[in-house]
Amino acid sequence: MVRRTRGLKLRAGVDVAVLGAGPAGSVAALELGRAGLSVALIDPGVVQHSHQIESFPAAGAPLADAIGVLAPICRTAEGPAQRMQMYWREQPETQQFNDAGPLLLYRRELHQTLRAEALSASADTVYIKARVRQLISHDGTETVATTHGDIQARLVLDARGRIGGRRIGAQTVPDWNVSDGLVALPFSGTQQTPSSSHMLIEALPEAWVWAACLASGAVHGAIFQQASALAGVTLASRAASAERRLSKSRALPDLANVGFSRPQSAEFAAVPDPVLSDTRLVIGDAALARDPIASHGLVHALRTAVQAAAVVRTVLDPQLDSEAAYAFIRHKHRDAMKNARLATAQAYADQSLFDTPFWHRVAALPSAPEPAAISPSEPLRLSSSLTRAPVLDSGTIRWAPAITLPVIDDFIITHGAISAVDIAACCQPPASLPELAARLARWHDQASVMAVLEHLIRGGALTHGPTSQGAQVISD
Ligand SMILES: Cc1cc2nc3c(=O)[nH]c(=O)nc-3n(C[C@H](O)[C@H](O)[C@H](O)COP(=O)(O)OP(=O)(O)OC[C@H]3O[C@@H](n4cnc5c(N)ncnc54)[C@H](O)[C@@H]3O)c2cc1C
Repeated sequence: MVRRTRGLKLRAGVDVAVLGAGPAGSVAALELGRAGLSVALIDPGVVQHSHQIESFPAAGAPLADAIGVLAPICRTAEGPAQRMQMYWREQPETQQFNDAGPLLLYRRELHQTLRAEALSASADTVYIKARVRQLISHDGTETVATTHGDIQARLVLDARGRIGGRRIGAQTVPDWNVSDGLVALPFSGTQQTPSSSHMLIEALPEAWVWAACLASGAVHGAIFQQASALAGVTLASRAASAERRLSKSRALPDLANVGFSRPQSAEFAAVPDPVLSDTRLVIGDAALARDPIASHGLVHALRTAVQAAAVVRTVLDPQLDSEAAYAFIRHKHRDAMKNARLATAQAYADQSLFDTPFWHRVAALPSAPEPAAISPSEPLRLSSSLTRAPVLDSGTIRWAPAITLPVIDDFIITHGAISAVDIAACCQPPASLPELAARLARWHDQASVMAVLEHLIRGGALTHGPTSQGAQVISD
């Protein structure tokens, strides 16, 4: 049941205003409604003229299942892709998915379905069909000014997608040569000789193409190119030039009835800090918009929604420490930025067909930092004393004992069944690597012990030198 509350005046206000009802906003509203909080989900609900199909990787299924949206997501899917055809290196390649292919989802249906899930989960979640105009913070309360009136809220989650992110200062990677941003030109067409549903990706000299080819013969995709290629041209000449690009495609040789929709920004962009203030958080693409070459934008949107809902529950509970919650979302954001940058750089570096300026936009991967050399016979100790880090536990966030991994800017609270406290205990007194392994193996199996020790060494957590005292994992 979708309740429309056009022009509604919420006299008493709500706990949380969620700005934007894309996947991130709707899933956040769903989680908050289930937690018993009152939510206003605000979105103009206008049809976006964008790409029509998106892929949802099998790796995202456990998360979707855990929050109860896997079945609704599947209902919006054409089905799984059977294979991926790649025209990226000298020889064309085909990756068979063997029944674990990404789902090909209809974007508009996905948004409608997730929004309906959020609204049916709680009677205290209302949908405000309006555009957010302004946010005003006063005396610890947020006023959200919309095209259909003002809404008071204790907290705001900003999930307004890429455009929202740009408004609050999302930036691309400084050392990438991307002053001329990446745009996607979505297209649809038909194939004369359809086969089972599949995806394809193809490098062109100054662009790349992604497409989902459906068993019906319908093809939905996008050409990704620099914004300057589309600047100042008429709709007709833009379509003609895009058709010329597609006519050179080896992947789509028999594409017919091609139509294009409006260009959309597709550049990697991230806000420096997802905690805008004590009462404002930013999630989904508004926080971090991945370059689609790195895929997983939808999974990221869902994940940040779940994380932000836990942050909100923690912040609104006076028994809990909101500093742990803010530290948690900041750490997750830094991690997500690192992974998205690496995945993008990797995809550009893997392309070996063209050596043009377009393919030099993204700087090469930084080489992995080297941990200090370890001698197996000399005593090892922790490079910094046991500290604390934020952990998500039963839907809220708390501090837990942690070991810093300075070389990879991370920490361990647990590694499998092995906790940071177990590790710290085994490092007293300092001992050689085989001795540390023997101590841990009294409580844990050998394979887990070797895995955690390798992880600690790679992360620079074990040293032959002195321990630095009072290390703080998370700085706010
Ligand atoms: C061309 C292209 C292809 C892509 N393909 C894939 C893919 O195959 N797989 C994948 O995982 N990801 C893909 N992505 C990324 C994916 O689309 C996004 O990561 C995902 O939609 C992000 O969800 P979101 O909820 O954060 O933002 P959005 O989906 O952008 O939702 C934002 C919402 O905010 C609303 N809004 C905006 N302004 C306001 C306002 N002022 N007031 C109120 N509401 C507002 C909008 O109406 C919208 O509903 C692709 C992206 C592009 C550009």
